[in-house]
Amino acid sequence: MASQGILYTISAPSGAGKTSLVHALLERTDNICVSVSHTTRKQRPGEVDGVDYHFVSVEEFQSMLGEASFLEHAQVFDNYYGTSQAWVNQQLAQGIDVILEIDWQGAAQVRRIMPATRSIFILPPSSETLQQRLRGRGQDDEDTIARRMQAAVDEMSHFAEAEYLVINDDFEVALADLQAIIRSQRLSLPSQQLKYQALLADLLSRSDQF
Ligand code: 5GP
Repeated sequence: MASQGILYTISAPSGAGKTSLVHALLERTDNICVSVSHTTRKQRPGEVDGVDYHFVSVEEFQSMLGEASFLEHAQVFDNYYGTSQAWVNQQLAQGIDVILEIDWQGAAQVRRIMPATRSIFILPPSSETLQQRLRGRGQDDEDTIARRMQAAVDEMSHFAEAEYLVINDDFEVALADLQAIIRSQRLSLPSQQLKYQALLADLLSRSDQF
């Protein structure tokens, strides 16, 4: 059997730096990709359709739901988000690791359906830093920022459901932490057994030649 990719969920409150960390992780790691979610949320300035998200209408989203196209889906704020089941399965079947940048509700659904999924939570180093990062975007009014802060606290309250916890204080340290998690999973016995099947069989069949 060819090796099967490992599925990761990475959850974090808005403002924890998750997207920048995942970008850097992809640049520095081979054989790993991130799933582009479908969302009914409006495109923000600078976002690219098909790269940051697949931006769809509520009708399109509901029709995909009806066709069971999503591995998981959730409502976050007033918008719907979902992960394409077919795309994720294709990557995993090719031996490519897949990251899902999704909220705690989605991560819980994925763990239930695919128990081998590894879940990671990223937190900011302090409440002050989180507030600064939420304000720093400069795209939202006070009400929206207050609402985002409350949503961030709600999301953070689920950190203990993940297997790994990364604190994003120093970016490079947090990135090295994520790389270490990925690397350790790749070194786990089931992954190594699949990858080195031929070697392992060979090593154990040569006792007569010594
Ligand atoms: P934003 O709209 O700020 O990009 O994301 C808002 C929240 O939705 C974040 O917590 C993000 O992780 C989450 N999210 C993005 N895509 C998905 C998805 O496909 N499924 C789920 N469950 N959450 C998602």
